[in-house]
This record gives sequence, structure tokens and C-alpha cells, in this order.
Amino acid sequence: MSVTTHEVFNQPRPLVDYNLFENNRPLQAALRLNAPQLDTAELSAFGALLGTREMQTHARLANVHTPQLRSHDRYGHRIDEVEFHPSYHALMAAAAKAGLHGTPWTRQGPSPHVLRAAGFMLFTELEPSILCPISMTYAATPALRPNAAIYADWGPGLASRHYDPALKPWRDKAGLTMGMGMTEKQGGSDVRANTTQALRDGVDPWGARFRITGHKWFLSAPMCDAFLVLAQSAGGLSCFFLPRWLPDGSFNTMHIQRLKDKLGNKANASCEVEFEDAAAWLVGEEGRGVPQILEMGTVTRMDCALGTAGLMRHALALALNHTSQREAFGKRLIDQPLMRNVLADLALESEAATALAIRLARAFDRPGDEHEIAIARLLTPVAKFWICKRGSHFAQEAMECLGGNGYVEEGGEGIMARIYREMPVNSIWEGAGNIMALDLLRAVTDLH
Ligand SMILES: Cc1cc2nc3c(=O)[nH]c(=O)nc-3n(C[C@H](O)[C@H](O)[C@H](O)COP(=O)(O)OP(=O)(O)OC[C@H]3O[C@@H](n4cnc5c(N)ncnc54)[C@H](O)[C@@H]3O)c2cc1C
Repeated sequence: MSVTTHEVFNQPRPLVDYNLFENNRPLQAALRLNAPQLDTAELSAFGALLGTREMQTHARLANVHTPQLRSHDRYGHRIDEVEFHPSYHALMAAAAKAGLHGTPWTRQGPSPHVLRAAGFMLFTELEPSILCPISMTYAATPALRPNAAIYADWGPGLASRHYDPALKPWRDKAGLTMGMGMTEKQGGSDVRANTTQALRDGVDPWGARFRITGHKWFLSAPMCDAFLVLAQSAGGLSCFFLPRWLPDGSFNTMHIQRLKDKLGNKANASCEVEFEDAAAWLVGEEGRGVPQILEMGTVTRMDCALGTAGLMRHALALALNHTSQREAFGKRLIDQPLMRNVLADLALESEAATALAIRLARAFDRPGDEHEIAIARLLTPVAKFWICKRGSHFAQEAMECLGGNGYVEEGGEGIMARIYREMPVNSIWEGAGNIMALDLLRAVTDLH
């Protein structure tokens, strides 16, 4: 027998089935300023999709049912696969269809990078962690160009709007993704300390081929089709293209040791990996691996700023949704003067982060413009440092607006806990705060 002890009231309706783009006036203003020719109809349709209950359910399931490593098959052969929940694949397919990975590098029309940046920010509000391989694919595409043969083979797949999760040779796939391997146990910031070795192994249509042996302590999205990897060759620290399948149809020797048990970023797999004579091809000049891979790093650093700005916007939207419905001491929370101050501070900071991140993205739409090249070089470490450093504080303040509901994992309001757990990663990976400060100093010196 059930007993009705109380009626539920004064609890807000969840934030669902709304258009993420149409409700985001600061983003619209940033686009008008930085890309006035841009047709935003595509973003409006995307914003509507991302706000649906169905997509929110995919985001929740992909985070609850986390990736699992299948290192061996039942007969003991190594397979080095990571298995994901179907919702992860649904999210990846939506991001690829929207062209958030390599697409802007080949896309025609005004401001393809700003358009992509806006879409990336909106997607972050739905689910940020699956954007890791999407971001790395976006960033790896231009970094591959110095090896024209590989770029010719892989470029179309990296720009394709199809997501193909199968682990199979690139020729048989409708869409490709890429990751990066720099960090080793002894050093992530100081990658010159890398010990992974690369030995020359001949030349083929993809150029100078090497055999790579060593490890990487962090390598995210190991189900990507290929990675840019740093290793020491006779000429010094160099950048290599390391595919999971080789051109002759055999499997490359990249062994996934284990998956990281992370604070947040749950839907995305990050792993420890070992290479045992893995085949890889030189990208760029031998001995110039750091500047080469930093081409990729600059772009992922921008995505850290964009992603955190998106998370801030989401946290703010949840705080506004809650406080505009919840009453305390006879008024809606949003009408309590002190709470108004808190919300205004959050809104201001979120708007500033959006404006800064989109301004940075604009620089990537003008690759031949000296001024914009300087802006990209200077603003990238500034934006990554400041926006990402503020992210955790911002999420904590927004969480507090929801009171106890903000701290629980369950249901719609539990999204705030997910945001909070996600925030620090953008600050740490691709160079933590001090490294951004040092990079800015280097940029100022270089440009002087
Ligand atoms: C979820 C996740 C995913 C990741 N995915 C990848 C990936 O796909 N590929 C990859 O290569 N790496 C990846 N990383 C690794 C990440 O990029 C590194 O953790 C990061 O660069 C920091 O390196 P570290 O951990 O070795 O810390 P350290 O280099 O030891 O740095 C520790 C602290 O010291 C500071 N510091 C370092 N040098 C100086 C200095 N000269 N002066 C002052 N302060 C300094 C840093 O700012 C930092 O705060 C990932 C990390 C995480 C958390």
C-alpha cells in the first residue's frame, strides 16, 4: 500500500526541448561582429536538435555507460578495441554530420571556422567529452599537410560528414578521425623529455617510414584511425603519422594498456598505450617535431577555450532555469537582489568568454592575414589560460544557484555535476596554466 505523504511543488521544470542557438543572444552577437556574412540557419537547426530530450538522453547514457577496453579476444589475440555505448556513437555521428571535425578546412562560404566554432560551443552544451576526438581531428587536418601524400589519402575522410566507428583500414571507411600522442610518464609539458624511439625503416609512397617503440601515458580517443605522435629519431624529436591499420591491410602494433579512470570526461576514452615497432611516417622536418605538432596544439587550445565557454553557457542556462522557477522567502530566487547579483556576474562572464572565444576563431578564417596570424598566436594562450582557469569557479557558483539539486547526479539537474567534473580538463590538457603563460611570453618575444 502506498501512502501519499506530500505534494511535490516549488521544483523547477527541467531545461529540455529548447533551441540552444536561438536562446543564446551573446553567441548571436559575437557572430554578427566576427562573421557578419554568415547564414545562421544551419546553427539554428543544429541548436534545436541539440536541445531535444532525445539528444540529452544520449548524452546521459554515454556518460553513465562508460567506454570499456577489450584488449584481447576470447582466444587470447590482442584486439586493442574500446567498446562504447550506442549513445556515444549517436553523439559522434551528430557532431560529424554538423561538420565539427575536419570539414571547415575544405568548406566553401564565409567564415567556415567561426561557423564551426559556434557549432562546437553549442554541442559542448549537450555533451563535451565526445568532442575530444572531434576536436583532435579538426586540429590534425592542417598539421598533416606537410606530408602531401598522406594528406591526399586522408584529407577527404577527415573532412567527411560521415562518422564510421568501425576499426578497419582507412580506404574502407566513410569517415576518419585522428588523435595525438605526446605525453609520456616523465613529462607532458616538457615533451622534449620523450623517450619513445623512432628508427628509419625505408621509404614508400607516404614518404620516410619509421618503426616506433615506446609508450604514451595519455592518449585520448584510442579508437581514432590514426595519431600524430612525437618520438626521438636520429635527427631529434620528430612528428609521425601513426595509423591503426597499415596500407598493406595489417594491424599496426599499438597496444592499449588500460583506460584512465578520470574525474570527468566520462564518455570519452583516454588510455595508456605502448608501441612495439609500430609503423609511422614522418610529418614535417625531422627534428622539428615540437613546432610541427604544435600546429595541432594551437587549434586544440582554441577548442579548449570554445568548449569551456560552451560549458559556462550551459551552467548559466541551468542556473537561470532553476532560479526563475524556484521560490524562497516569498520570491522567485531570480528576484532576490543578492541572487540577481550572482546571476548577473555569471551572465557577464559567460558572455565575455563567448566573445573572446569566437573572436579567436575568426583569426582562423584569415590564414593569410598578418594581423590575424599575430592575433591567433597571442590570443590562443590568453583565451585558453583565462577562460579555462575560470571554468571550475564558474561551475561551482552556478551549481550553488541550484542548491542541493545542483550537487546530485540524478536526472536533468545532474547535468550540473557533469559540467563541474568536466571543467578542469580543458585547463590541464594541451598545456596547463603556467605553460600557457610561458607560451604567451614566447609569442611576445617571437613577434617582437
Ligand atoms: C583527460 C585527459 C586527456 C588527455 N589526452 C591526451 C592526449 O590525447 N594526448 C596527449 O599527448 N596528452 C594527453 N593528455 C595529457 C595532458 O596534455 C598533460 O597531462 C598536460 O600537458 C600536462 O602534462 P603532465 O601531466 O605531464 O604535467 P607536468 O608537465 O608535470 O606539469 C605539471 C604542472 O607543472 C606546471 N609546469 C610545467 N612546467 C613548468 C614550468 N617550466 N614552469 C612552471 N610551471 C610548470 C604545469 O603547468 C602543470 O601545472 C591528457 C590529459 C588528460 C587529463
